[in-house]
Amino acid sequence: MGTGRAGGLWPVLLLLVVAVIVPTACVLWFMSAAVRNVRLAVRQKLADAYGPHLSRAVSDIESYWKQKADALTRLRADATPAQVFADLITGGACDSVLIYDSAGRLLYPTSPEDRADQSEQEPKDWLEARRTEYELSDPASAAAAYDQIAAQAQDATIAARALQAQARCLAKAGRKDAALEILAVSLADSKYADARDTHGRSIVPNAQLLALELMADREHPHYTSTVEALLERLNDYGAPPLPSSQRRFLMRRLRELIPDPSQFRTLPAEELAADYLNSDPSGVRPSVLLPTALRGVWHMGTPDKVIVALFREESFLDNMQSLAEPDVPLPGVSVKLLPAQAKQPARESFLSVPAGEYLPEWQLALYLEGPDPFAAAADRQIAAYLWTGLLVAVAIGLSALLAGRYLLRQMKLTRLKNDFIAAVSHELKTPLSSMRVLVDTLLEGHYQSGQQASEYLQLVAKENERLSRLIDNFLAFSRMERNKRAFEFAGVAPGEIVTAAADVVRGKFESQGCRFDVQIAEDLPTITADRDALATVLLNLLDNAYKYSGDNRQIALRAYAAGGGVCLEVEDNGVGMSRRAIRKIFDRFYQVDRSLSRSAGGCGLGLSIVKFIVDAHGGSIEAKSQPGEGSTFTVRLPAGGAAGSPDSQKKTRSNAI
Ligand code: ADP
Repeated sequence: MGTGRAGGLWPVLLLLVVAVIVPTACVLWFMSAAVRNVRLAVRQKLADAYGPHLSRAVSDIESYWKQKADALTRLRADATPAQVFADLITGGACDSVLIYDSAGRLLYPTSPEDRADQSEQEPKDWLEARRTEYELSDPASAAAAYDQIAAQAQDATIAARALQAQARCLAKAGRKDAALEILAVSLADSKYADARDTHGRSIVPNAQLLALELMADREHPHYTSTVEALLERLNDYGAPPLPSSQRRFLMRRLRELIPDPSQFRTLPAEELAADYLNSDPSGVRPSVLLPTALRGVWHMGTPDKVIVALFREESFLDNMQSLAEPDVPLPGVSVKLLPAQAKQPARESFLSVPAGEYLPEWQLALYLEGPDPFAAAADRQIAAYLWTGLLVAVAIGLSALLAGRYLLRQMKLTRLKNDFIAAVSHELKTPLSSMRVLVDTLLEGHYQSGQQASEYLQLVAKENERLSRLIDNFLAFSRMERNKRAFEFAGVAPGEIVTAAADVVRGKFESQGCRFDVQIAEDLPTITADRDALATVLLNLLDNAYKYSGDNRQIALRAYAAGGGVCLEVEDNGVGMSRRAIRKIFDRFYQVDRSLSRSAGGCGLGLSIVKFIVDAHGGSIEAKSQPGEGSTFTVRLPAGGAAGSPDSQKKTRSNAI
């Protein structure tokens, strides 16, 4: 029976899979696809809305860098490298610049060593003067010696060098005024403008700085003129050229005396170029901004490779950012220019595009901030999809549940019908065939005496009675199944029903030598019941007590009042039942020992009919038994009461099934 039931569940499980899981999975798939599509559509809408701005910003950035690149190529044809440097820096084309010749040799910034004068052998008088200055430590005599060299010198450079040395010795000798006179006045002569010391450094500006350092106060008559002359020289990038390192040194020193940055506009550019050359100045590409070895400094070459411009991040990032930002602010949106290896990666952005060919690997990224109207609309649509999907899934689940229940019920009914038909045909066959044999025997006259004939007839009558009881049970069961059992409730005295039932079985019980004890308590309350139905209950219980007891039968039928109602009890001393069997005996067609039941003429319907009737009366039935120690069935019925109302019948029926 168990296997049959499990086997019967397969179609239901299959139905569940086909009718619930597959459609639900489809609905969920459709839902997630729809949600994805909505999100994509919203993204597309936003991209359509904001994309044009990004393209505009990219082209603005491109033209910004194109202007910068063009500015690097617009040079004066006759300008020296130093002038090109100064023009580009003062014109704001870049933060610093390096100028090369077409062979790739650096033309600017230059170092003084480039013009150092090592070859010239110093004349004897020079050597003498130097010895006096350094070895003899006689600055006054050395000054006189240098003075003489200067006076006799034919060459302006030699004269300038001698004057510079003379001024130095005079200063050492404590003759500051005489030294200043030489530094600020004599050397100011234009014929010394291109004079250089043996290290290639320009003599005049160095002399001017020394003069300024020697002047104790700013009130000195030559102070202002010397400052102005030195400033002019330092800011003059024309010929004769000043070595860059000397210019940087002098500018830095002079800036300490006049802390006015506007006077030293090219100094940061000079310093940056020097730092750049000291780092690794390789990897320049034409018209492309690339990072240098210096932190925050980028370089870009010109196509002819003559110019390498340097740009500090802080001087162009702000410009870039303002070009990237929309003229009219976009609500809930921010646009950022992300340099290569930016901290905030472009993939976190909503939309990002390359920032143009001048800035390889830079990205222009658009970030959404806060709730944007499209996303809110998408969320609403997504919520609608989710709800619809949920409702459809629930509807599918519910309908499958109902269909499953209906199917199970139908399957149960079909199985019941099959069991019923099998039981009916089997149960009817035995009494019918034994009756046929008996009747045939009688008809053919195979009996020895009238008494034997009468015994045969009694057997026929017994089989007949058994047949009637079976058919009664089948009919009761059938009516019960179709819910057509109509009870006729009326107030009855329980004692009457008990007596009637006892009377029906007494003849049979007593003739078989069975001890049958009937106890009816006095003053039992009246109950509302269908007399015949209750009689059926008792007859079934008594019949079972008789069937499932051995030869020495002791059967008791009792009626007594308990708990405000009436108890009808049938007790026997028969085979009894296990606790597990007791739980099942009220199921239809259940038989503890099939062969015993069959030989006793049962078909497993009696107790289910009993329970159905008892339930319909608003009562309950309980079985107490132990294997081999007999059984007691107790029916409890409420006194008076409203038992049998259509509602309770309905309830009872559904419980019974
Ligand atoms: P049946 O027609 O087979 O007697 P019932 O529904 O009346 O069907 O009983 C179901 C089963 O319960 C029986 O087959 C039997 O095994 C068991 N049963 C019923 N009454 C008794 C009893 N008094 N003693 C022992 N077993 C019983």
